[in-house]
Amino acid sequence: MRPITYSRATDPQSAVATVSADPTSDYLAGGTTEIDLLRQYVLQPRRLVDINALPLAGIESTPEGGLRIGATTRMSDAAAAPEVRERFPMLSEALEKGASPQLRHMASLGGNLLQRVRCSYFRDPLAPCNKREPDSGCSALTGHSRDHAVLGTSEHCIAAHPSDAAVALTALDASVHTLGPGGERTYPLDDFFLLPGDSPHREHPMAHGELITAVEVPPTPVARRSLYLKVRDRASYEFALVSVAAALSVVDGRIADIRVALGGAATKPWRARRVEDFLVGEVAERRAFAQAAQVELAEARPTPMNAFKVELAQRALVRALGTLAEGTGLEDGSPA
Ligand SMILES: Cc1cc2nc3c(=O)[nH]c(=O)nc-3n(C[C@H](O)[C@H](O)[C@H](O)COP(=O)(O)OP(=O)(O)OC[C@H]3O[C@@H](n4cnc5c(N)ncnc54)[C@H](O)[C@@H]3O)c2cc1C
Repeated sequence: MRPITYSRATDPQSAVATVSADPTSDYLAGGTTEIDLLRQYVLQPRRLVDINALPLAGIESTPEGGLRIGATTRMSDAAAAPEVRERFPMLSEALEKGASPQLRHMASLGGNLLQRVRCSYFRDPLAPCNKREPDSGCSALTGHSRDHAVLGTSEHCIAAHPSDAAVALTALDASVHTLGPGGERTYPLDDFFLLPGDSPHREHPMAHGELITAVEVPPTPVARRSLYLKVRDRASYEFALVSVAAALSVVDGRIADIRVALGGAATKPWRARRVEDFLVGEVAERRAFAQAAQVELAEARPTPMNAFKVELAQRALVRALGTLAEGTGLEDGSPA
């Protein structure tokens, strides 16, 4: 039995002051990650500060035409919001394809970004894991690695980033707003998630006690024509083997604007900039999509167990872009 102090924060500043002052404390939002890991002895906080009563839920349009989604907004509420569905379908779909209805009703957007990896060695306190215990080793490198990453890996960690919503938000150039002991900060999402390198225990740049207050999505007209394709072992209630968040605008048969990010295949939500750079100005055809996908995956470093993800990611990219291009000038619309 480990005693834990529980308190309910009533204003953001005192929540930040409480957690910042105590290195053994954690925030508690929906609890769908935190409580799991606490029960598994992976996290051992002595204090939990519940942030659900803070005024951090809700979605509002920004004056520029983007959205500001509060950190404690439930995944199900964000997925169902008309402004998310209409303006950013890829985000609505990514949220809806995550977890199960019960979990989505509990889980918050801030917690979703900070959920921990599903690597079975990270979740087994007896197994060496550099992410859980720095310099203890990476069991996945020689162990079971079917679900692990092929992009952005290091010799210290190959765990795949698990969040679906973060993949769509990365494609959308979203940013994370926080409140810390030093005041407010904003992080572009692509800089917020860190590659494992030689310090896989550092997953983001926030200081202990820094509180995510909101996620902001800038106005992105191309996102009105977007989707989230999630390839998984079963049709629901399952993490992605590979996923693609994509938005496409085709003018006179050529690609005028494009946003692409990959999930399930990388150690962080993976902005597929090589795909974007390759395809802008190209004819929207299957052959170009396949070439771009090959370029993106050229730096993949798979293990023998997850080598299938390299081809799967390429096929998923072609399928996602082909689906978006259908009826907008795609020369060969046959599915990948
Ligand atoms: C069975 C199962 C299946 C799942 N499947 C999927 C899936 O397919 N796709 C997917 O994307 N996710 C999936 N998830 C993960 C789920 O989406 C996350 O557990 C959830 O989003 C976390 O949100 P929460 O509010 O419950 O966070 P919590 O568990 O409360 O918190 C998670 C972490 O974030 C910290 N935290 C929370 N809010 C803040 C904040 N505002 N500021 C700073 N720190 C904060 C907490 O201290 C904690 O460390 C699954 C989870 C389970 C249990």
